Amino acid sequence: SVAARAVQPSLKRVDGVRNIIAVASAKGGVGKSTVAANLALALKADGASVGLLDADIYGPSQPRLMGIEGRAQAKDGKTLLPMVAHGLQTMSIGYLIDKESPAILRGPMVTSALQQMLFQTAWDDLDYLIIDLPPGTGDIQLTLAQKIPVSGAVVVTTPQDLALIDARKGVEMFKKVNVPVLGIVENMSTHICSKCGHQEAIFGAHGGQTLADEYDVDLLGELPLDIAIREHSDAGTPTVVADPEGALAAAYFDVSRNT
Ligand code: ADP
Repeated sequence: SVAARAVQPSLKRVDGVRNIIAVASAKGGVGKSTVAANLALALKADGASVGLLDADIYGPSQPRLMGIEGRAQAKDGKTLLPMVAHGLQTMSIGYLIDKESPAILRGPMVTSALQQMLFQTAWDDLDYLIIDLPPGTGDIQLTLAQKIPVSGAVVVTTPQDLALIDARKGVEMFKKVNVPVLGIVENMSTHICSKCGHQEAIFGAHGGQTLADEYDVDLLGELPLDIAIREHSDAGTPTVVADPEGALAAAYFDVSRNT
């Protein structure tokens, strides 16, 4: 379990946060942000105190996923108050800059913007802070993984061979910086037709399990490609909140309980 893992002593701890879990993917569009949001909400529903930091500076998606509009307020000119959504304490660059203005920042600035959000948000007594990392395994991610006192990382992938090749790089990156990989989440595992219920493995099958076996880590869960997940997300109420008793939410609860 995450709680049992020691954080490297050289890293600065984040006030008000007991455990940090990074959610990463090597590619964009595989559903990382959706997994991060539902993982956070599932942990919350199970009784933990949870925060969600949207570290995707270039393409923040948590404000929309969480259904939050508006600006984060500063508490005393120094700290930012997290925006609360569905019981989660959240922070995103989307609460700090205009929606219309793209974040044109160089690598080092991205890292410092993220560190500011991490260290200057007034997180209040969190068991878990889930970090939705920017996609990719480049310098930015490497620097982040080295600077943030992460307890463990969850790697999200689709079962497609191409995605898996990249996901391998993601796992390797965390190994390089000694961040334990808690496991793999396979998203868009099978498509379930909303009309007839027929299941189809659009992106292939068993990719997540193969990757998990290869690195001797757990397959934390498999999520189908289902229009309801997209609709819930777009409406600002992720699946775990929108339909907590449903089979899709159950799949996200599996991920959170296995993490
Ligand atoms: P990433 O963070 O990897 O870029 P997102 O979480 O933003 O990916 O997901 C990309 C798009 O796919 C979003 O529109 C999201 O609602 C949708 N999506 C993610 N996972 C699923 C799923 N399992 N079923 C259907 N749609 C999904």
